[in-house]
Amino acid sequence: MESLLKRNSDLIPVRRLLICIAATLFTIPASSQQKPQPHGPAVVPSYMATSVRPGDDFYLYANGTWEKNTEIRPDRASESPSSELYDQHEQKLQDLITEAGKAQDANSRRIAAFYHSYMDEAAIEAAGIKPLEPQLKGIASITDKHQLARALGETLRADVDALNMTNFHTDNLFGLWVAPGFDDSDHYHAYLMQGGIVLPDREYYLSDTAAMREIRTKYERHVTTLLKLAGFADAEKRAARIIALEHAIAQSHWSLAEDNDVHKANNIWKPADFSSKAPGLDWTEYFRAAGLDKQTSFYVWQPGAFTGESALVASTPLEDWKDWLAFHTIEQYAPVLPKAFADEEFSFWGKTLNGVSVQQPRWKRAVAVTDAHLPSEVGHLYVERYFPPEVKAQVQAMVSNLIAVYRHRLEGINWMAPATKAQAIAKLDTLYVGIGYPERWDEENYEVKPDDVVGNLSRSRLAKLQRERARIGTAVDRKRWCLSPQTINAVNLPLQNALNFPAAILQAPSFDAHAPAAANYGAIGMVIGHEISHTFDSEGSAFDSKGRLRNWWTKDDFAHFNAVAARLVAQYDAYKPFPDLALKGKQTLAENIADDAGLAAAYDAYKASLHGQAAPVHDGFNGDQQFYIAFAQSWAEKMRDSALRNEILTDTHSPDHWRAFEVRNQDPWYEAFEIKPDEKLYLSPQERVQIW
Ligand SMILES: [Zn+2]
Repeated sequence: MESLLKRNSDLIPVRRLLICIAATLFTIPASSQQKPQPHGPAVVPSYMATSVRPGDDFYLYANGTWEKNTEIRPDRASESPSSELYDQHEQKLQDLITEAGKAQDANSRRIAAFYHSYMDEAAIEAAGIKPLEPQLKGIASITDKHQLARALGETLRADVDALNMTNFHTDNLFGLWVAPGFDDSDHYHAYLMQGGIVLPDREYYLSDTAAMREIRTKYERHVTTLLKLAGFADAEKRAARIIALEHAIAQSHWSLAEDNDVHKANNIWKPADFSSKAPGLDWTEYFRAAGLDKQTSFYVWQPGAFTGESALVASTPLEDWKDWLAFHTIEQYAPVLPKAFADEEFSFWGKTLNGVSVQQPRWKRAVAVTDAHLPSEVGHLYVERYFPPEVKAQVQAMVSNLIAVYRHRLEGINWMAPATKAQAIAKLDTLYVGIGYPERWDEENYEVKPDDVVGNLSRSRLAKLQRERARIGTAVDRKRWCLSPQTINAVNLPLQNALNFPAAILQAPSFDAHAPAAANYGAIGMVIGHEISHTFDSEGSAFDSKGRLRNWWTKDDFAHFNAVAARLVAQYDAYKPFPDLALKGKQTLAENIADDAGLAAAYDAYKASLHGQAAPVHDGFNGDQQFYIAFAQSWAEKMRDSALRNEILTDTHSPDHWRAFEVRNQDPWYEAFEIKPDEKLYLSPQERVQIW
């Protein structure tokens, strides 16, 4: 599952871009946040608030002064010391893209044309709503539910990804994810997921808090405004009906915690099962229009949503569905329609949902969208220029150290049955760790026109669907990547027993060959450990060395694991960022386990890297102190309240401030900072949760 970034699919460019920025993704070791310097300090003392006792709030101890002195820029939902890295990264991508405009090869020409189509505001203004007219006219001409089923089928896209990107729903009626089968990991299978709502999660429709009610009021205004801009009469009435339908759809949706339970998701339906288990929608027509009529089976991730949504197709008036389709179409393309649409889109997604007051400059949005829709094309250029082979070799060595630590830790576990342990080690031995870029690249040759941004987006999404559909039934490539090399992130792919560490996360200053071991292991080392541990966590433990959903644990192994995991759930449930909103320990369990184990493993690997020598002291901190401060500083992030609420409700990670509290489960941390029982984060040795 995705480790750091929150949502990164290429769905809806501006919205996704905003969420990316809101999330602030990954924070680099603060040590090397300035220019990379040989043997620079392991920690940035000026970030710290040493008046805070480390055992009371380790995050503020490490970052309190930085937090106090940092103001969130108006076009951001959050700020972190790595913001500079992102600025530089965007600039690097823009350089590559604008230089592509001068090159003559086909790849470069497509990149340049896509970028131009987004930047050409005059052409976008002149075209108005016209580029969407064929779609809107098609929707208006629907006269019965049979035609509706066809139109809904035609909207299906490969825009969900349950286990790698933890993206469990789409705003289309349903979404397709093509991945190795739960029971047949040698071949790609079709997974179908719930959809139909625009707001980020069912909670936005169902929660009765004042904050959510206010968002819903503003959402209704947003739907009305877009419909009016697109020339619809009775926009208010239509908006009310669209939202009522979305509300009903949300009621049938699974919660994020349910989505994360792979055992609940393992439901194989034959085509005939759909009309008996989920009557209402004309499934034959739906699948024909989606190009899936030849499929003999599907994994249906959230059966309840399929039953509920299909019933709504039958019970809700045709006109409501037509309005719903029209609005969803406009909403998906609004960021690339004339300014009035794009501004309204920003006003809702940026301001209301994430508290951002100023829109990103157009070139940044253009870079993000071009990158999202031509990831391999841009990736080739990026790797060539920014990823030297030496870095790949160095990171490879660090990964090997971490894997050696895990092997050692697995061998030393006393609660696991020997047979289970042997299989866990087999899983570690067959783990594919991709570093920098994929061995084989995904490319699709859809047509890119310099004056048709709506068409470019639409062709890109369709090409992705066609590529993924064609993959169904073919042999699994375990070395296939799901992130582009220029993504600042890392990911665990449980069905492939594989990890991806893209080139962009392995650059200075996030990885610095000259930084002390404490900084590199406390930050990027912990990330590597985090990803490896997903292989064995609450979700990873459900898959064997070949990526099959298979129980390779004994009952006792599971009982022990679940009991310890339950304690971690309780630990995170007890954190309350707002008086009316606590963290969700169950929703974030897999990520919290990965942090718990990743930090412990990174510490061991760090100690091993010293080869028995004492670590150099920097700024009065010994090696262990540097390691934990570098870790906590890597999570420095200041966030607007609305964005934080959004994250708590929709993210499978804990917010960064609380991720830093993971230290309280680590024995060496207590020694390093002489933590006393009266300090707030103190846990007695029996209360500390240590899983691996
Ligand atoms: Zn993770």
